[in-house]
Amino acid sequence: MSYQQERYVAELAVQRATLLTQKVFHEKAKGTLSKDDKSPVTIGDFGAQALIIQAIRKNFPQDEIVAEEEASSLREDKALSGEIWEQVKDIKLSDNESDSLLGGPLPSEEKMLEIIDQGKSPGGGKGRIWALDPIDGTKGFLRGGQYAVCLGLIEDGDVKVGAIGCPNLPVDDSATMSSGIGADQTDGAGKGVLFSAIKGAGATSRPLTSGALGASKSISMRPVPDIAQAVFCEGVEAGHSAQGDNAAVAQRLGITSPSVRLDSQAKYCSIARGAGDIYLRLPVKKDYQEKIWDHAAGDIIVREAGGQVTDIYGARLDFSKGRTLAANKGVVAAPKAIQDQVIGAVKIVLKL
Ligand code: AMP
Ligand code: MG
Repeated sequence: MSYQQERYVAELAVQRATLLTQKVFHEKAKGTLSKDDKSPVTIGDFGAQALIIQAIRKNFPQDEIVAEEEASSLREDKALSGEIWEQVKDIKLSDNESDSLLGGPLPSEEKMLEIIDQGKSPGGGKGRIWALDPIDGTKGFLRGGQYAVCLGLIEDGDVKVGAIGCPNLPVDDSATMSSGIGADQTDGAGKGVLFSAIKGAGATSRPLTSGALGASKSISMRPVPDIAQAVFCEGVEAGHSAQGDNAAVAQRLGITSPSVRLDSQAKYCSIARGAGDIYLRLPVKKDYQEKIWDHAAGDIIVREAGGQVTDIYGARLDFSKGRTLAANKGVVAAPKAIQDQVIGAVKIVLKL
């Protein structure tokens, strides 16, 4: 298995979905609902999920899908369902061949709801399972910060392919993450990147386009000769990772500059291309289980770029446990050469 076709479809599907998310990003009314866990979901999340699942179904009809959203709330909210359909029905890649590979336009509003509900696989350690986060960092999306459209393919519990679209990150891989990268973002000139990786074949970035895929460049993490100079990143939301503990780990490593805060798997992508070095996500709540769609694509992109991704104990993320990373706590990602040192500091700070 080379996974070239899987990666190609994943990248195109993510790219097409970002055409919708970017449209919604610029609208004041984003059609926001609050889910049972109080987290927000928008027209962009639902629509991107429909577009991507349609592309997977068309190309790999036997595969299972674990996706973040489901359509039950839309069946009770016909107005919102109609608004999503109005946005989704016109989404099209300007390159006809690419667009028809993904199945062309969605057939109807009713079908769109059915397609959204095809992401309910329980996951697990057998077979081919796509993990989809149609908008990762929805809070960043609403705030005008960073967000990402994320798709990974897991086979027998192992991530084989990842694709992540980051409309608000700079195209330039050599631009270091600035402290302001997580707020007041736009997707204008020079912005919009599509990252991808195949297990054993490396990681790449390319500019997001509105048609066929752009030209790709290989990416890798940068060497960190002096860990005290490392740039570390974390989430913006204090409810998603323990920012105080993250800072204590950085301090133990001798890092004096403050963290760069940004939403979504844009963190994994940024360290994978050497725009930063370390990503810390120390747990806030003991019983929270990380979701596989929040990590699958980022995990393979960082590891193929020369990094290591583990939990707070230094164990690899285990994608075979179902819809969540039930066997892991927190996330720590860094270049391979310094990962043990970072985990050492985490263990001291968390008294593990
Ligand atoms: P980030 O953009 O890094 O803050 O991560 C966003 C993701 O955090 C969302 O997609 C949620 O699934 C996830 N999330 C929600 N609550 C928690 C929590 N208590 N701990 C860790 N992650 C969470
Ligand atoms: Mg998410």
